[in-house]
Amino acid sequence: MSAVIIDGKQMAQDIRAELAEQIKKLDYIPGLAVILVGNDEASLIYDRNKKKAAESVGINCTIYHLPEETSQEEVLEKIRTLNNDKNTHGIIVQMPLPSHLNSEEIINAVSYTKDVDGFGVYNIGLLHSNLQGAIIAATPQGVLYVLEKSLGDLSGLNAVIIGRSQIVGRPLASLLINKSCTVTVAHSKTKNLKNITSRADIVVAACGVAEMVKKDWIKPGAMVIDVGINRREGKLCGDVDFDEVKEVAGYITPVPGGVGPMTVAMLMKNTYIASLNQLKKA
Ligand code: NAD
Repeated sequence: MSAVIIDGKQMAQDIRAELAEQIKKLDYIPGLAVILVGNDEASLIYDRNKKKAAESVGINCTIYHLPEETSQEEVLEKIRTLNNDKNTHGIIVQMPLPSHLNSEEIINAVSYTKDVDGFGVYNIGLLHSNLQGAIIAATPQGVLYVLEKSLGDLSGLNAVIIGRSQIVGRPLASLLINKSCTVTVAHSKTKNLKNITSRADIVVAACGVAEMVKKDWIKPGAMVIDVGINRREGKLCGDVDFDEVKEVAGYITPVPGGVGPMTVAMLMKNTYIASLNQLKKA
């Protein structure tokens, strides 16, 4: 048996096309602000991609590129200005920040209505409490979209998430609990991981360990989502050994071309929805 390979690029393109249609009908242009402090190579690339994606759907994206030595107060002041700017509907602070800055304070200074990354405690609290109106982090939201598109109703399914980070593992665990999955969150201290994953209907790998998940970790027919982005011998690869695992899984996402494009699409969707909600409240 060979798995259905999920085309995340196509799925993301469909979401973006629909979004572009909806945005065309608005009588304003949604605005996204990206704050980038310093010159981290990967962050520069990510932010350029976000700007390109935003502009392709009709969102106006401004990158505020601040020097490495910017102080905590200066970053907070920039956020306060953007919080009060009517033309800015979404604010992203690119991580990682230089080490002299307090990331937690900075993330939580973003108005919860404009926190389109969904990293602030207010939005996390809504999600974890299964309350309406949470802005949900883009990567877990993209994973959920792929799961529901492929499997339909997730209720009662046994899901294992490898990784307990604030931006992927934890929010995804809440999302899947809210969809009535039985969820296990594994991490670097988990024992006998292979025994745990091999009983799962859904395995989501988000640990950042290149090609760790092998064929004999997966129940035949299970759905495998690979969030990982790693570099091995100059090539991009995920946390799943794709060539092996695709022989047993029912569905699998590739790297690249799986979860990555979905993350960017969901970020744009979050910005559009945040803009609608802000106008409703105005
Ligand atoms: P992180 O480093 O914050 O967290 C990694 C998690 O994996 C931790 O909870 C850790 O306990 C767990 N872990 C580490 N080694 C493990 C092991 N051997 N066995 C079991 N668990 C282990 O990482 P993150 O920010 O959540 O990102 C995870 C991966 O996903 C990275 O490769 C990252 O680049 C990628 N990522 C991709 C996207 C995307 O859009 N595709 C978005 C975010 C992160």
